[in-house]
Amino acid sequence: MQTIPSEFLEIDRKARVYMPYQDLSLRPPTERVCDFGDVVIPLDSDRAMLEASRCIHCPDPAPCMLACPCHNDIPSAIWLIEQGSYVEAAQLYRQTSSLPEICSRVCPHEQLCQGSCVLNKTHEPVLCGPLETFVTCYERKTAGVAIPVGKPTGKKVAIVGAGPAGLGCTEKLLEQGHSVTLFDSKPAPGGLLVYGIPNFKLAKEVFFCRWGDFEKAGAKFVGNTFIGKDKTIDDLFKEGFEAVFVGVGTGIDAKMETPGEDLPGVYEGTDFLMRANTELNLLPEGKRERPVLGKRVVVIGGGDTASDCLRSALRLGAEEVTCVYRRTEKEMPGGRKDRKMAKEEGAKYRFLTQPVKFIAGEDGRLTAIECIEMILGEPDAKGRRKPVPVEGSNFSIAVDTAIKALGYWPDPVIGKTTPGLEVHDWGLITVTDKETGATTREGVFAAGDGVTGADLVVTAMVGGRKAAGAIGEYLKTKK
Ligand SMILES: Cc1cc2nc3c(=O)[nH]c(=O)nc-3n(C[C@H](O)[C@H](O)[C@H](O)COP(=O)(O)OP(=O)(O)OC[C@H]3O[C@@H](n4cnc5c(N)ncnc54)[C@H](O)[C@@H]3O)c2cc1C
Repeated sequence: MQTIPSEFLEIDRKARVYMPYQDLSLRPPTERVCDFGDVVIPLDSDRAMLEASRCIHCPDPAPCMLACPCHNDIPSAIWLIEQGSYVEAAQLYRQTSSLPEICSRVCPHEQLCQGSCVLNKTHEPVLCGPLETFVTCYERKTAGVAIPVGKPTGKKVAIVGAGPAGLGCTEKLLEQGHSVTLFDSKPAPGGLLVYGIPNFKLAKEVFFCRWGDFEKAGAKFVGNTFIGKDKTIDDLFKEGFEAVFVGVGTGIDAKMETPGEDLPGVYEGTDFLMRANTELNLLPEGKRERPVLGKRVVVIGGGDTASDCLRSALRLGAEEVTCVYRRTEKEMPGGRKDRKMAKEEGAKYRFLTQPVKFIAGEDGRLTAIECIEMILGEPDAKGRRKPVPVEGSNFSIAVDTAIKALGYWPDPVIGKTTPGLEVHDWGLITVTDKETGATTREGVFAAGDGVTGADLVVTAMVGGRKAAGAIGEYLKTKK
């Protein structure tokens, strides 16, 4: 339900459709490729108000609100922005989202809220994401942000994994008055927000400001603690935690099973991104050095991680950065927006090409990749045409560094070390109820990528918030 129903608004919808569009401003490619700073130039107050006044306020429920996995009340927030009530707008986003300053920057808006905007039919959609960024920034600067904390219940909940799922769950548990401790194998909280998504899409300080709100509300963080290795979920129950939420994501990079893929000079996507983008003192021990790139870099894969790797390699000074993908651009799973930016920044693409061997030079480091040409064959079960090798078409690309950006798998360790916790498909945690995140083990709840497979920040966060509701109910009835 919209807080401000559209029927009460006296607006001229037709006139709004023809209002000038506030283009999303980006720093020029030649400038932005020289650093890891934000690519998007944020809206200012005047532009935000103008952009907000383009919203035609569709009847409730508006398509943007339905398309948002949090069901943010976007039309009411936009109306508040139009009136200049920025703090109130930010507070409205916070009612349904634990990470609005982050989702506003990293969500694929063109597939969600902005993608469903009815203005798309004839014009450009309202810039829902940048408007949310503007008001959440304004709110932090002028009014501050505090997570409301409930009356203490004396009950302790452990969160395993401090990524978006764990954080969504934490916020809602703190609101209920429970004591929350987050355990993570990494030195700092954030999950892929800190150890994956590049700084030019999400500056770390945006996350750490938000994390400061969690700390002020009483969330405790225990880093460098791998649950399933350093201690188990059963140990957490023995330590007095009455429920455990598991939001461990899918942290294992997919292998290519190609000869030479472990040669020096061949990186895994997340390892490369984290070392390229995260402050050295926040990296796990043994990883505290920047990746050493040669002049010629090849990134293998067609998803968003591939775009992130291409763009990070260019920022690290590589001279020739090429994406190698086994299908055509049409079949690429990654978003068009990121690919367009990668191209503007100088990335090249080589389609219908599959690496079959990584070749070492005399010094034992990668020196070339043997590839084979592909053609598209019959569609697979999902309707995507399968790439088929062209016999005898092998050729070599001279290269100094290769980065594999192929996809992710869950770590099976939690399933293996938690009696009664059912997992499936290489370790994804089975939930018996998607709405509550209940698992087959009493008192253990789960959500995020570790349940759904690799997905989005917003969906993981929503899953965590829902599980917090179920954990609250469980703690009330638990003997
Ligand atoms: C390179 C990259 C770029 C991306 N870009 C975007 C984007 O622009 N927009 C978007 O919406 N999504 C993006 N995603 C996807 C998004 O980051 C994830 O969907 C989201 O972070 C999942 O949240 P999560 O909490 O489930 O898992 P994660 O963020 O992976 O967090 C899981 C946490 O659990 C910890 N952990 C794992 N196992 C254990 C254990 N046994 N014990 C203790 N701790 C453990 C990990 O260290 C990690 O901190 C991107 C993903 C990648 C890899």
